[in-house]
Amino acid sequence: MSKGDRHGSLSVPLRLISDGQLAWSATVPASALLDPESRDVLRIADVEVPLDSDVDVAVALELIGGGLSVAGEVTAAWRGPCARCWLLLDGEVRTAVREVFTSEPREGEQYRLGPEYADLTPMVREAVLLELPIEAIRCPHPEPCPNLPAELAEASEEASEGGSAELADPRWEALEALEALRGRTDETS
Ligand SMILES: [Zn+2]
Repeated sequence: MSKGDRHGSLSVPLRLISDGQLAWSATVPASALLDPESRDVLRIADVEVPLDSDVDVAVALELIGGGLSVAGEVTAAWRGPCARCWLLLDGEVRTAVREVFTSEPREGEQYRLGPEYADLTPMVREAVLLELPIEAIRCPHPEPCPNLPAELAEASEEASEGGSAELADPRWEALEALEALRGRTDETS
């Protein structure tokens, strides 16, 4: 199996781990991440992961004493309303994961490793949920937002004249954090 293979499943057969290591890349629909019991959509407040959007996972698996270490990156799409005009905005989360899978996981710290497969689904679901924007999302329109009904726009303009600092777009913050992370990695390599 070549390193570039992209799979359609988050269930990794342990027999493929040769020399104690395996690179696993997969693209699955967000619907594959639903909790099998609650079937809850991936949502934090008004922001959710569209069920038909793709979730990309690229991880390195490594056998360690008593289990499996899984480290890499998860990317998913989100959709949520602008806090000013309710225009639906699309964004992307990209987050690093580093977790341990064992046959007897410590609750809340590790994930369960099956006898034949490592199911990455719960790890990916939690990583995406943790990374969804929780601050007010804002469309890139200048104040007052052109999508805002006129009466609300006036109120919004008055509020912004108070000299309050413009709320940073959480997506930019995430990007900056990622770039800072990349910068650190580059320095150490
Ligand atoms: Zn807006």
